[in-house]
Formats: sequence, C-alpha cells, structure tokens
Amino acid sequence: VRRLVIVGASLAGLRAAESARRTGWDGEIVLVGAEDHLPYDRPPLSKAQLDHRTGDDLVPLRSRDELDGLGVTTLLGTPATGLDTDGRRVLLGDTAVAYDALVIATGATPYRLPGADGIAGVTGLRTHSDAVAVRRALDAGARTVVIGAGFIGSEIASAARKRGLPATIVERLEVPLSRSLGPEPGAICADLHRDAGTDLRLGVGVSGLESTGGRVTGVVLDDGTTVPADLVVVGIGVRPATGWLEDSPVALHDGDRGVLCTASLATSVPGIWAAGDVAHFPNVRFGGDLMRLEHWTNAAEQGALAARNALAGTGEEIAFLDTIPYFWSDWYGHRLQFVGTPRADEVVTVGPHGPGAIVLYRRGTQLAGVLTIDRPRDIMKFRRLVMEPGSWDEALFQAADRVTASA
Ligand code: FAD
Repeated sequence: VRRLVIVGASLAGLRAAESARRTGWDGEIVLVGAEDHLPYDRPPLSKAQLDHRTGDDLVPLRSRDELDGLGVTTLLGTPATGLDTDGRRVLLGDTAVAYDALVIATGATPYRLPGADGIAGVTGLRTHSDAVAVRRALDAGARTVVIGAGFIGSEIASAARKRGLPATIVERLEVPLSRSLGPEPGAICADLHRDAGTDLRLGVGVSGLESTGGRVTGVVLDDGTTVPADLVVVGIGVRPATGWLEDSPVALHDGDRGVLCTASLATSVPGIWAAGDVAHFPNVRFGGDLMRLEHWTNAAEQGALAARNALAGTGEEIAFLDTIPYFWSDWYGHRLQFVGTPRADEVVTVGPHGPGAIVLYRRGTQLAGVLTIDRPRDIMKFRRLVMEPGSWDEALFQAADRVTASA
C-alpha cells in the first residue's frame, strides 16, 4: 500500500490517520473532507459550545502543524461524489484521488423536517456552524422547541433551561427514549426534563411550522396546538452519509444504507474499510449482533482499527473489533452514561428512579448493559461485567452495594 485515502475528516477519519502512522507506515495519507474545517469534536457542540461565554472560534482536534507533522495531506471542502473501484479512485466532482487502501468515515447526516427548508430559525445540530447558529439564537433569548427527545435534543433543551429560557420538547413516542433505553429508564429521563422546567409534549407529532417573513414563529402539533418558537432544533435522527457510494459495489444496509462491514471493518470490496457512525459491524461480544453506533468512543476506536487493518501486510494478523459500546450525555447538570447494549430480556432499575439510578439490562444470565445517572465512578466497574458468563447476579449485587454505599 503506497497511498491511504480516508474519506470523512472528523473523529473516525482523524484516528485512522493517526493510527496509520503509529504502525510505523510511512506511505502517503490523504484525508478528504466535505467540511471546510480541520477535524473537530462534536460532543461539545451541544454542551459547552451552547454556553453564552463560548466564542465562535473552532478548536480543531489537531492543528494544521500537527497534521503536517504526521504527513497528512488534507483535501477539505471537497466532498467525495462517487467511487470507482475498478480504477481505485475516489471521485471528487471533476477531479479524483487514487487510492491503494481506502477508509470510509463519512459519518451521518441529520434527517431534515419536511417543509422546513429555507425557514430561518430552523436547524439540525451536527456541525460547528449549526452550533454557532443555535448559540446565537439562545444569546438572543430564543424560545426553543426541540423536535425529538433524543440525547442531542435533550442537551439542547438543557442549554436553554440553563439560561432560564423556555424550552419545549416535542416527541412522538409516549415515553422519551423508550425504544432505545426501555420504558422505565425513558420515564426517568422524562422526569429529568420536567424537573428542570422543560415542557415535554409526548405522544404527539409535528404537523407544520408557522413563520412570518421567512422566520419561524411556531411549531404546529398534530393535536392542533401551536407552540411559539424563535428557534426550532430538529433532532429526529441521522442517516449514514453514503449517497456517494450508491452507484458503487460497496454493500450497504438495506434499511438505513450504512456500510456493511465484517467484524474487522472490511467492506464487501477488498482494500476498502469503514469506521464510525457510517459503519454496521457484527459485534462479536454480543453474539454477532449487527450494530451501527453513534458514539464518540466507537468512532475513535473503529477509525484506528480500520486503518491498521487496511495497512496490514500479507500474512499479518487482521484484528477484530472486540468492543463494549459506551456513550455519555449531559443533561441539566446530570451525567447519563451507558455501557453495553440495551437490547435485553429484562431491565431492572436499582436505587432511586432519578439521579443516582443504576439501570441493569439482562440477556439470559449475562449483564448486557448498564445505564447510570450521576455515577461516573461506578459505570466503569460494571463495564468489566458486561457479557461475562453468568454476570447478572454479580451485577445485581454490585448495584445494590453501590446504591447502599451512596445512600
Ligand atoms: P462524523 O463526526 O459525522 O464525521 C463525518 C465527516 O465526514 C463529516 O465531517 C462530514 O462532513 C464528512 N463527510 C460526509 N460525507 C462526505 C463525503 N461525501 N465526502 C467527504 N466527507 C464527507 N457521542 C457520545 O458518545 N457522547 C456525546 O455526548 C455525544 N455528543 C454529541 C453531540 C452532537 C451535537 C453530535 C452531532 C454528536 C455527538 N456524539 C456524542 C456522537 C459523536 O460525535 C459521533 O459518534 C462522532 O462524531 C462520529 O464520528 P465519525 O467520524 O464517524 O462521523
């Protein structure tokens, strides 16, 4: 392999470049990104970046000098438009870049609200410029409506409430996050919102927007009511950014069109690997469950692994991903953390049904996942029990012990 091309200049792409160098490989690395920016971190976009003290400056994960030092050539503001696997070229509009090995790390793009395009004050939150727009609206005292009670939407409501501004969340489900976390933990999450003064509208969809002079003034709900709004943040999920691969032989998931990978992150085409929010992979830890994760830690780990495998010489060992998913989210001064998977046979809440809760997810006799609220020190103790044979009883015991110790 003489040239490694990485498409997607964010967390997974950057970690791929860094890990390629860590292997001692000294070939050419080209990092192609649709955004104009050097790779930057997204979790702060819905947290510190929404604080009134935060400026507009973007702090990249690595400086230009550092990337030069790593010998990484960047092609920024240059979206890949297609892939020619016979010619081993990534198409970039009128030009192209040839690769010997390719890592796909194009992440995911937010779903838009139908009919909302072009109305000022309506946005998703995925990029630095989205975050600047949201923060400025909050600086101006916006009445905020968040559509979708997911993790990012909840953080935005939290930022509005922290400033004492009115925040409403509209969610089609009767219980927020009930599909991802289960009904009981979802109800705990609902209470976190209500206790912080967020107006939670559940079991109702959005039927349209009201606007004056091209600027949003309200969100019309299915039940006929209208919630006044100066800022509407759409948080109804993301889809893998794979439009540029549709005409290529790279196999995509039938449902969401994410890239289908093996446990070592190889795609269906030799020499092409994928990592991060864009990738589906069978997680060997969880009986080969096909997973596509939207978590920071996963994107970092997968980026590193994909590049290492892409550069492994003939006869060298290809590594499998053996990973326990982990993510965190910060709401109203509370830290939610999750390890493992919520796909489970049974869900048990130990301790308070609120801050301090430990929620355990059981698969057979194993601990499959754990959600904690405000227990940053405890969560990693549970991580080592996840999917260990017969770990359920031990997890129940540990949880009771932790709760008693902190009572
Ligand atoms: P992305 O970060 O989505 O990057 C993909 C890059 O590829 C983008 O820069 C995109 O412009 C580019 N791209 C797309 N298409 C093309 C193309 N055709 N050609 C070239 N480039 C292209 N995770 C947590 O665990 N905890 C958190 O608290 C948390 N908070 C978050 C808050 C926000 C607001 C957001 C948006 C995400 C948050 N995440 C959090 C998730 C985490 O940031 C993502 O999992 C991570 O960014 C995924 O990295 P990635 O490199 O796979 O994809």
